[in-house]
Amino acid sequence: MAVIGERPHGYDLHMHTTASDGWLTPEDCMALAKRQGLRGAAVTDHDTTAGVEAAVRAGQKLGVEIVPGVEISAMHRGHDIHILGLWIDPGDPLLSERLAGNRDVRRLRNVTMLEALRRLGFDVTLEEAERIAASRREDGDRTVGRPHIAELLVAKGYVTDLKEAFDLYLAEGAKAYVASPRVSPEEAARWIREAGGVVVVAHPGLYRESEALETIERLHAAGMLDGIEAGHADHGETAERLWRRTAERLGVPATAGSDFHGIRGGEPFHAMLGSRRTEEETVERLLQIKKKRGNYYDS
Ligand code: AMP
Ligand code: ZN
Ligand code: FE
Ligand code: FE
Repeated sequence: MAVIGERPHGYDLHMHTTASDGWLTPEDCMALAKRQGLRGAAVTDHDTTAGVEAAVRAGQKLGVEIVPGVEISAMHRGHDIHILGLWIDPGDPLLSERLAGNRDVRRLRNVTMLEALRRLGFDVTLEEAERIAASRREDGDRTVGRPHIAELLVAKGYVTDLKEAFDLYLAEGAKAYVASPRVSPEEAARWIREAGGVVVVAHPGLYRESEALETIERLHAAGMLDGIEAGHADHGETAERLWRRTAERLGVPATAGSDFHGIRGGEPFHAMLGSRRTEEETVERLLQIKKKRGNYYDS
């Protein structure tokens, strides 16, 4: 918690709301950002920008600067790679259409994962998982993901917690895991650039190191890399150092974000909002990169 009276500082450049698999509405996230003493925060829901507008409105009232963002699911060598788009125009029609396509593909993946779970003997349906997402957000423009399926398994008493749901069934390589066809990191980066955003490779420490490096170097060679999320709640010190050094070597900013997904029963899913912060100088650098490219989206 921030000390009362302390000047708000830093930007948490990675978080999820009820527009995807977060548990708090954009408004509640912003209220929390304020309490955490953040100067700014990026709303980066999976494959949707549906939470951005409400967050911007709430942020304006509270004096928290909102970075409109998105976390796009892409794929490299058959493995998921997440690409953060920051300072995108959330209302860009082409981006919206492209993200809707990603959500359609994801829905098919969810159908197949639910089938796999039923084959394992669980009485679970996609409709039930979708109802969990819908219970937190009425607007149909939301992303349903594995955490909702995990919650369903917990609600039905098949596992004791979300971690067990992932470890036994939903994590890559687990019993009900299904890989989904996704766009390439380059394609996701192009979508972000065309919507006026900057391209940051999310949590490289969570992928196979060689594949993370290959993705980053390819994007960089194509002139499509604007930053690397070196600071992430699930990165150990060694990973953080490696990706900071890589960012320095390639001459791009290193960002940090909590990947906050909400709080329930006093426990944050992933990490607490504001537990990882990007310094203001780094945010300034990213904004300069965006400005130089033109197509400036002014929220
Ligand atoms: P999806 O986009 O539907 O594939 O789900 C991805 C989300 O699932 C991530 O953003 C995390 O919130 C969550 N997730 C993925 N792997 C794990 C894991 N091993 N343990 C806990 N949560 C995970
Ligand atoms: Zn998530
Ligand atoms: Fe991610
Ligand atoms: Fe995330």
